[in-house]
Order: sequence, then structure tokens, then C-alpha cells
Amino acid sequence: MPPLIAEILEANRHYVAGQPTIPQAATPTKGLAVVTCMDVRIDPLALLGLSLGQAHVLRNAGARVTEDVLRSLVISQQALGTRAVILMPHTGCGVLGLDVGKLRPLRGDAGEPPRPLDFHPMDDLAAALAEDLRLLRGSPWIGQDVEIHGLILDTAEGSLLYPGL
Ligand SMILES: [Zn+2]
Repeated sequence: MPPLIAEILEANRHYVAGQPTIPQAATPTKGLAVVTCMDVRIDPLALLGLSLGQAHVLRNAGARVTEDVLRSLVISQQALGTRAVILMPHTGCGVLGLDVGKLRPLRGDAGEPPRPLDFHPMDDLAAALAEDLRLLRGSPWIGQDVEIHGLILDTAEGSLLYPGL
């Protein structure tokens, strides 16, 4: 067994032995979905005062509204009843100013040409947030009664700023 997997399975045995409290239902009890970054410094539930079972948390590089985030939000809302979305990008994000031109396919031997990827680059946090809020609010996939808000997380402090976008 690969050492990484052995380590993970050992940790999981401890988790299970601790008899974790796992909610019965898959429906978020706060009716909320949060979109944030994959950054390791972010503990979304803790900093929002939430616990397991209360909200969907969607994470990707940059907390951007990608096609997959939209797909997940539609399922979150139409199949699991959430009625509010918070987009929560953060200061010092690794995607800010990232030179995506340097990202490239690493294998050319798979037969077909590599599918192009949109890395959703951003140079300005507030501008990217405003763009993503606009995109969600204008999407025919999102009901008009769904609350859509943006918060900016100060990564070092763990504090939230409401930019009123
Ligand atoms: Zn980030």
C-alpha cells in the first residue's frame, strides 16, 4: 500500500473510533452554500460559525464561479433546498496575479490534443468577486429568490469584510 494511503487510513480509523457526530440528513440545515478557495489556511465552517450539516462548502482555486461551481449550486438549490449563496474569496490568494500562461499540459502522448482549461485568472479580488456575483445573479440557472452575497476573507486575521457588492 502506498505510504500516503496507509497514513490516511490510519488517521481515518482514529476518526471512526472517536464516534464522530455525522448528521442524518444531507440537506443543509441553514439553507446555505458557501463558495471559497482551496487555500489551506481557510477553515470555512469554523470562521463562519457553522458546523457539519449546516451548509454546502464548494472550494476551488480562487473561489471562482466556474461551470462546476454553477453545476453544484444548481444541485444544492434545486435538489437540496439551499436558498442563499455566499462567495468568499480571500486576501493573499495564490490565484491573484498568477501567470496562467505558464501552466501547460505535461503530457503530449495521450493521443488527443489536451483540452484547453480556463484557469479563471484574477488580478483584483474585488473586481473578480463583482464579476462572479454578476454572473450568478444573471444566470438563468439560479432563481431570483436566491440570496447571493459576497464576503472577502482577511486570510491572516480570519476576519470577514462585507464589500456590499
Ligand atoms: Zn486562494
